[in-house]
Amino acid sequence: MSHSRRSLWESVSDFYDRAAAYTGLPPGLLAEIKACNSVLRMRFPVKHDDGTIEVVEAFRAEHSHHRLPTKGGIRFSPDLTQDEVIALAALMTYKCAITGVPFGGAKGGVRIDPHKISDGFRERLTRRYAAELVAKNFIGPAVDVPAPDYGTGEREMAWIADTFRSLSPGQLHSAACVTGKPLSLHGIHGRKEATGLGVYYGIQEALSRGDELKAHGLTAGIEGKRVVVQGLGNVGYHAAKFLQHQGKAIIVGLAEIEGAIANPNGLDVDAVMEFRQQTGSILNYPRATTLAGTAAALELDCDILVPAALENQITAANAGAIRARVIAEAANGPIDTEGERILLARDRLIIPDVYLNAGGVTVSYFEWLKNLSHVRFGRITAYHEETSHRRFLGTIERLTGKQVPDEERAGLIHGAREIDFVRSGLADTMISAYEDIRKTARTMKIPDLRTAAFALAIVRVAETYKAAGIFP
Ligand code: NAD
Repeated sequence: MSHSRRSLWESVSDFYDRAAAYTGLPPGLLAEIKACNSVLRMRFPVKHDDGTIEVVEAFRAEHSHHRLPTKGGIRFSPDLTQDEVIALAALMTYKCAITGVPFGGAKGGVRIDPHKISDGFRERLTRRYAAELVAKNFIGPAVDVPAPDYGTGEREMAWIADTFRSLSPGQLHSAACVTGKPLSLHGIHGRKEATGLGVYYGIQEALSRGDELKAHGLTAGIEGKRVVVQGLGNVGYHAAKFLQHQGKAIIVGLAEIEGAIANPNGLDVDAVMEFRQQTGSILNYPRATTLAGTAAALELDCDILVPAALENQITAANAGAIRARVIAEAANGPIDTEGERILLARDRLIIPDVYLNAGGVTVSYFEWLKNLSHVRFGRITAYHEETSHRRFLGTIERLTGKQVPDEERAGLIHGAREIDFVRSGLADTMISAYEDIRKTARTMKIPDLRTAAFALAIVRVAETYKAAGIFP
């Protein structure tokens, strides 16, 4: 049987229209919030190591200028299209609105296979892409601030920051032109694992209320739940690690581009990663069964499925075979409209991407703030906090005549450092955003989390237009 598949843009558009119908906002305003404000399409030559030239296609879409700068990742992907970049930029606008991050949404990318390029080609490509963005005013601390996404990471962000700085000399805040930079180049503690940790916090929130979970055939809590993760890149690896170590979940299946492995008694994520580093593949990992193809992992018997690779992984073709009760969308757009319809009819709980993977942009926001203020969080306060905690503890010990045990003392005295601020800001954001989605679902009588999340985003963006007097 053949199934039609919705493109990511079609799915995002369907989700938007469905949520918009609940808001009661005027059609003109809804059309403005949906529209992508500007798109830059580029074609430029990049030299291979052997001297041959390849002309690559690249994009940057700024979906919404209702708040500036715009913000969103850069992906390197072989099948990238302009529509996909626009859809991802739109998701960024909604993500920022849901989490209260004061940016508009953007996204960029290059149509290239990140697994098939040399380091030299990668650097020339990234620097040329950044130079194109500078030339067209599509990058800058107050304009548009990229970040890592599929196929890119700290190294690419460092090249972008360096290219921007050399082309815009004398700018005090130039480090804030991009986030996800290495720590030694004005990055922030905790950015690398932020999206994966946010995924963990989001799943924790969604599984926190037993009464809400009964309809999905679920009990509360992560501990002991069987988890499958697809994609062991930045997001998937960290999500899997936090679920295993902090959540005490059992990782029963892992999928990568080369295939998948399973073990109903649990897999150790780091041991599998080490094996992949040594052999170049997760296949034939000794303490697991190797599955036929990466897609097979999605249909494994488990409680929580975490797609963390790319979009359109669950469609009408396989949604009926998904056994997980919770699908936690760590990737952007892993379920298309038809796939979602089938899963919802089967009472599956879908924790939507616009909420669940917002940890990355949240901590990117903190990094941008750090770059603008030119000081590490906690630099000025930590010593003062520790001194006053020590004094306070001394007073209590003197008044009570009792000594606090040494093992507790360090924790009580500790003054907050950058990583503590980042983790606390991230946890708070994920907890309160979930509560806001839940409230929206209740007040607007919306049955599923994605529609509620989109409706919340639409209403929040609409508020900024109304406040500016642009729409009544
Ligand atoms: P990444 O490049 O670090 O990792 C992606 C991994 O998925 C790679 O290891 C790749 O080999 C693997 N993969 C590709 N196709 C696969 C398949 N069919 N089956 C199994 N594995 C496959 O990318 P990332 O930054 O982790 O991004 C993953 C997803 O998360 C994307 O949808 C991205 O848009 C989204 N996301 C990323 C961030 C971030 O901070 N990096 C933030 C929000 C959302």
